[in-house]
Amino acid sequence: MTVKNCPECNQIFMQKQYDVCPECYQQDLTNFQKVRACIRETPAITINGISKKFNISLETLLRWRRSGRI
Ligand SMILES: [Zn+2]
Repeated sequence: MTVKNCPECNQIFMQKQYDVCPECYQQDLTNFQKVRACIRETPAITINGISKKFNISLETLLRWRRSGRI
C-alpha cells in the first residue's frame, strides 16, 4: 500500500487497489464503463473523440490507457 496523490483531485490517499482516491472512484468507474462500451461499439474512435463525446479529460483517458484498461 502506498501513499499517493489522486490524479483527479490531487488529494493524498492510501492507494489500495485503485489509482484514484475513494471520492473519485465512483465517478472514475462510471466514466470508464461508458468509455469501454463506446470503444466496443466504435473501435475506430480516437482518444480525442472520446474526450469530447463524454467530456472526460485526455489525462484521465491516457491514465486508463497506461494502466491497460482501455
Ligand atoms: Zn480524487
